[in-house]
Amino acid sequence: MLLFTPGPTPVPQNVRNAMSEETMHHRTPEFEAIFEKTRKHLFSLFKSDEVVMLSSSGTGAMEAAVINLCHNTLLNVNSGKFGERFGKIAVANGLSSVEIKNEWDTTASVASIIEAVKNNSNIDAIAVQISESAGGLRHPVEEIAKAVKEINPNIMIIADGITAVGVEKIDMTNIDCLIAGSQKALMLPPGLSILGLSNRALEKIGSGKGYYFNLATEIKSQRKNTTAWTAATTLIIGLLEIFETIEKNGGLEKLYDETALRAKAVQFSLEAIGLHIYPKSPAKSMTTVDDADASKIRKMLKNEFSVNVAGGQDHLEGKIFRINQMGLIPVYEMAWVVNSVELVLANLGRRKYDGTANRVFNEIFFDK
Ligand SMILES: *Cc1c(COP(=O)(O)O)cnc(C)c1O
Repeated sequence: MLLFTPGPTPVPQNVRNAMSEETMHHRTPEFEAIFEKTRKHLFSLFKSDEVVMLSSSGTGAMEAAVINLCHNTLLNVNSGKFGERFGKIAVANGLSSVEIKNEWDTTASVASIIEAVKNNSNIDAIAVQISESAGGLRHPVEEIAKAVKEINPNIMIIADGITAVGVEKIDMTNIDCLIAGSQKALMLPPGLSILGLSNRALEKIGSGKGYYFNLATEIKSQRKNTTAWTAATTLIIGLLEIFETIEKNGGLEKLYDETALRAKAVQFSLEAIGLHIYPKSPAKSMTTVDDADASKIRKMLKNEFSVNVAGGQDHLEGKIFRINQMGLIPVYEMAWVVNSVELVLANLGRRKYDGTANRVFNEIFFDK
């Protein structure tokens, strides 16, 4: 079965092997050496002033970011389940929340953010997804961050990059906190999350908030290549192996280029066989198609062609399907995926099979 869900993503064989070694104690020079190397790689991935790893799924890092960087009112962008989650986290922690809500195919406009910030001087942090995985939507985070900083540089910009870090290069100029999670573009099992922080964020964090998710406590330890609590040793060993694997495959720039090219080739190939791309501004992390037959297409892809893609949630259940673009994806697998979608459409009697999806995919992907 080919796993083509936008998280979890497949874990490369060599990374699974690295994680199958005997358990290592976390308070040892051996593990600290691994931690130090991993941290160095994280700095080159995040391009931030500080990085910190947490033993939690991505939501844990979202909560850590909110409680440490928002002390009054959080403005969150809700164009999907993950954006909505930021508001819920704020309220659960006794903070106020202001929400900008849009349909899941629609980005937050810079103007709507500016208006909200101008209307409420209690807003001290903004949380937004770079890639909102609910509908495969790319928000204009860089523009939002720039416009907000021009009004008030003290407002913290929290960018959820769980399906963006490792997918594309992110301009950190105006971002204070960038979040990543292990099971998406980082090609690991779930359970590790990472935050990249600006110096302004470090100032705001001060002595930190919360206990397990107190970022000040955690950063103090991690600067010494250890962790405040027991480290997710296996996943950190896996993460180092991931970084070395990316390097062996030509480095981060090549990964970003290939991801962008593959996402474009898949989008065009599916449009060429009459499918419609759901988000008005598609993220490179996944290809999202809205279709009345979405459920049938998913089921047939899985049962007849061994391709596992994701569906939609809530009001989009049965209405969309999402094909992963994150990670080191062999091109022959992706070619098979678009061909399978075309075969499914033929089986459904929607169009005669003529190999168009594969032809368009190959023309775009190999026309360099
Ligand atoms: C997956 C995901 C999350 C949540 O991560 P969990 O690991 O499930 O806690 C948050 N934001 C985005 C954009 C995601 O894709």
